[in-house]
Amino acid sequence: MSTKLSAPSQAALDRIKAALGKNGWTDAPEDMAPHLVEPRGLYHGKAALIARPATTKQVSAVIAICNEYHIPVVPQGGNTSLVGAAVPDDSGAAIVLSLSRLDRIRSLDASNDTITVEAGCVLANVQAAAEEANRLFPLSLGAEGSCQIGGNHSTNAGGTAVMRYGNARALALGLEVVLPSGDIWDGLRALQKDNTGYDLKQLFIGAEGTLGVITAAVLRLFPLPRDVVTALVGVPEPAAAVELLALLRAGVGDAVVAFELISEFAVGLAIEHIEGVRSPVAGNYPWYVLVELASGQEPGPMREAVESVFADALDRHFIGDAVLASSQSQIKALWRLREAVVEAQAYEGASIKHDIAVPVSKVPEFLARADELVEAAMPGIRVCAFGHLGDGNIHYNLTQPKGMDADKYLGQWASMNQLVHGIADAFGGSISAEHGLGQLKREEIRQYKSKIELDLMRTLKSTLDPKGIMNPGKVV
Ligand SMILES: Cc1cc2nc3c(=O)[nH]c(=O)nc-3n(C[C@H](O)[C@H](O)[C@H](O)COP(=O)(O)OP(=O)(O)OC[C@H]3O[C@@H](n4cnc5c(N)ncnc54)[C@H](O)[C@@H]3O)c2cc1C
Repeated sequence: MSTKLSAPSQAALDRIKAALGKNGWTDAPEDMAPHLVEPRGLYHGKAALIARPATTKQVSAVIAICNEYHIPVVPQGGNTSLVGAAVPDDSGAAIVLSLSRLDRIRSLDASNDTITVEAGCVLANVQAAAEEANRLFPLSLGAEGSCQIGGNHSTNAGGTAVMRYGNARALALGLEVVLPSGDIWDGLRALQKDNTGYDLKQLFIGAEGTLGVITAAVLRLFPLPRDVVTALVGVPEPAAAVELLALLRAGVGDAVVAFELISEFAVGLAIEHIEGVRSPVAGNYPWYVLVELASGQEPGPMREAVESVFADALDRHFIGDAVLASSQSQIKALWRLREAVVEAQAYEGASIKHDIAVPVSKVPEFLARADELVEAAMPGIRVCAFGHLGDGNIHYNLTQPKGMDADKYLGQWASMNQLVHGIADAFGGSISAEHGLGQLKREEIRQYKSKIELDLMRTLKSTLDPKGIMNPGKVV
């Protein structure tokens, strides 16, 4: 592949600007700045301009020009993915292609339970459009007020409802994609069944913008739940939480939507640092589970079934105190506790983060082994573990020892990654369950994928993008 690493020629930039029209681009430093930095400040880049196309045809025209002139293109949605995937390198050779003006909801077919949206639609707006039609679009995550559908699919986002509805990959029935050549592939099929060869849309989902630009998607919708039960439960250990999940599934079938595990340390940080956050559970427990169940039935029977499972689990000492929310505001408060953990970590100093997945049954062993190793490697390190236990995804974050210099601590990032990712791998796990590889894990992933897997990925990349213009330096 032959990506040129010098600034694009004026002739190329003039053609891009002409294709986009007056409002379709910017090169003003103050307007470009937010597009050139990853939200945590870990990655800073430069770009020749920010392209802001408003139509698929404009995306196509820009990509065709970039292909002709070998100009790297960095697609960008809400820039929330946290692994440096959506920002350019510091050569100034690339353009950033912001999708935010492609924000139309093209259609909603309630009888087919599908919505067709453009890539720049903010996730929360898609949820709202579905709800207006009395339907649920179940993808839900902390960044939903700013992340976009194109970014969600390019990172195969998961979120809190994966157990019940699957991740972004499972929610897309069709895609429209601008290929690195500039050609438009219209794969906007709204079909549940289509066995006509390779499922091409899956190539672009989770590809982090390295194979093409997603410009629109057909997404699956579901009935709005009529009954929702949300509870916070104290548990003695992660293995008990896994048992509780099995009991709930046996008791209420596939109604479990979210099953979040939160350590006592993480809950403590949220209560200490974030205003208004408290735990309604009586007493302290080493671990907590936030569970949410949803059903299409009238309110009542599911709550009774959950109470009966909790009573059984209490008798068998799987759980301690359990509190079921009895109003919307109580549901919100329980979720606020979970979400506050993410913000609260920053108040305790530097944090080395891991976003791993292992089979659900292996989570307790993973946590025990990882704790043992990191505590031996750095006495005083504080494990802040929480995450989507229901789908095996744990945010195994490591807060610095009290009083340690933050930079000195962050200097151990690679060695801590090596320990934690090594254990996840030993359990057949993944080193990136949600956020993708971006720049952050591009080198490291080579240790954890076989030569055949890496070769296949590189073959796909060079076949679809022979000039290597799409988001170079990311993923492969
Ligand atoms: C507070 C917070 C909570 C989060 N919670 C979760 C969670 O629970 N589960 C989870 O899975 N993730 C979570 N994430 C990360 C999540 O993956 C992203 O927030 C989101 O899916 C990315 O969308 P975005 O529009 O911001 O994409 P960006 O960050 O802009 O881009 C991400 C990648 O996709 C590419 N890209 C963007 N748009 C396109 C497009 N149209 N075509 C081709 N490539 C494109 C970019 O080049 C980049 O490689 C969280 C992030 C934050 C900040």
